[in-house]
Amino acid sequence: MTTPVSISDFPILARPGRGGSRLVYLDSAATAQRPTQVIEAEREFLTTANGAVKRGSHLLAEEATEAYENARAKVASFIGAEHDEVVWTKNSTEALNLVAYSLSNATLGRGGEAARRFALGPGDEIVVTRAEHHANLVPWQELCARTGAQLRWIDVVPMGSADQGRLDLSTLGVINEKTKVVAFAHVSNVTGAIAPVDEIVAAARAVGALVVLDACQSVPHFPVNVTDLGVDAAVFSGHKMLGPTGVGALWAKAEILDALPVFMTGGSMVEVVTMEETTYAKAPAKFEAGTQMVSQAVGLGAAVDYLNKAGMDSIAGHEQVLTKRILDGIATIEGVRVVGPTSDENRVGAVAFVVEDVHPHDVGQVLDSRGVEIRVGHHCAQPIHQVFDTFASSRASVGPYNTEADIDAFLDALSTVRPYFGVS
Ligand code: PMP
Repeated sequence: MTTPVSISDFPILARPGRGGSRLVYLDSAATAQRPTQVIEAEREFLTTANGAVKRGSHLLAEEATEAYENARAKVASFIGAEHDEVVWTKNSTEALNLVAYSLSNATLGRGGEAARRFALGPGDEIVVTRAEHHANLVPWQELCARTGAQLRWIDVVPMGSADQGRLDLSTLGVINEKTKVVAFAHVSNVTGAIAPVDEIVAAARAVGALVVLDACQSVPHFPVNVTDLGVDAAVFSGHKMLGPTGVGALWAKAEILDALPVFMTGGSMVEVVTMEETTYAKAPAKFEAGTQMVSQAVGLGAAVDYLNKAGMDSIAGHEQVLTKRILDGIATIEGVRVVGPTSDENRVGAVAFVVEDVHPHDVGQVLDSRGVEIRVGHHCAQPIHQVFDTFASSRASVGPYNTEADIDAFLDALSTVRPYFGVS
């Protein structure tokens, strides 16, 4: 099978798995592997241009700043955004917390007149979905606790139909005139289902709510243009898109970044500081306090180059073939049920499943003993598991470097699990 990327670009995939078996990496939804081009870009930066950005007048500081901003430009254009609309963060979790804390600062009156529209209080509502990763749920629960706003959620289709686990649009009525924020995942990291963005955005727009998209599991897998999606803000993490850990991004429309009050404060995000008060730099700098993750940003820029070269459409097409193979294969194995939609349409290749009568950790161990690496647990998304009558599941997830042979190795190993534990 031809892959949209060259497998030899990923040196780690050539190492053996447990016990000398062939390594089959199916945990890209947790963290993806990095190609040599990304590793080299970081090495090249560190060996030729490392310096603190925006802080010195010397050559290295200048070249480091240029590399850092160049990476920002690549990331912005990758998602159809403007350069100054991309704020570097540590990861998606930090980006979502940034927005939530900024809104509570607006509630406290910070940010002046421009930020008043973001203030929340009793009687206001924030809408999320039951399918959220905890990173896009807990910050909003905390924001509600700090402001007196109430959390509501779009529910998911119950277990038992082909659409199980997809967002249930019949519950979209939770978005009403009290709704001030709607935050939802573009793609669930458990079910792999792609959210009906247009419908949710239309409902949010009708009531003037701020729309925050967790694009963590979409940006690495198919073309995403934040402007076309019509959302106000979006977040994603470098390490899930063939880039480094320690870097992610918050994108938001320029007028929103301008109006939002600052969250983290300190060096590099200011204009004038006196003992009495401080004025802040313009976005994105006003959200980038302290010494930044420069080589990681450069690495993410290289990851974007790499993804562009492979082509996001090719990656999506390839991963769809693998997803179908996983779902078709699971359907033939007795006692294994999918946690999420059972068809390969409108979804990506993160497939969670339950092996009846076997604990997910045991499933993971049997597969790992054969070199097949998957994720087990609740995948930081406990509420959606409740709908599937389970606390945890196993999850196979694909990246552009996976092959049909990888999927077959996974299915082969999975078919041995119940017999191994004597439950079939
Ligand atoms: N949202 C989703 C949908 C995710 O899959 C993840 C990571 N599993 C996150 C948010 C959090 O990402 P990070 O840990 O990189 O901040």
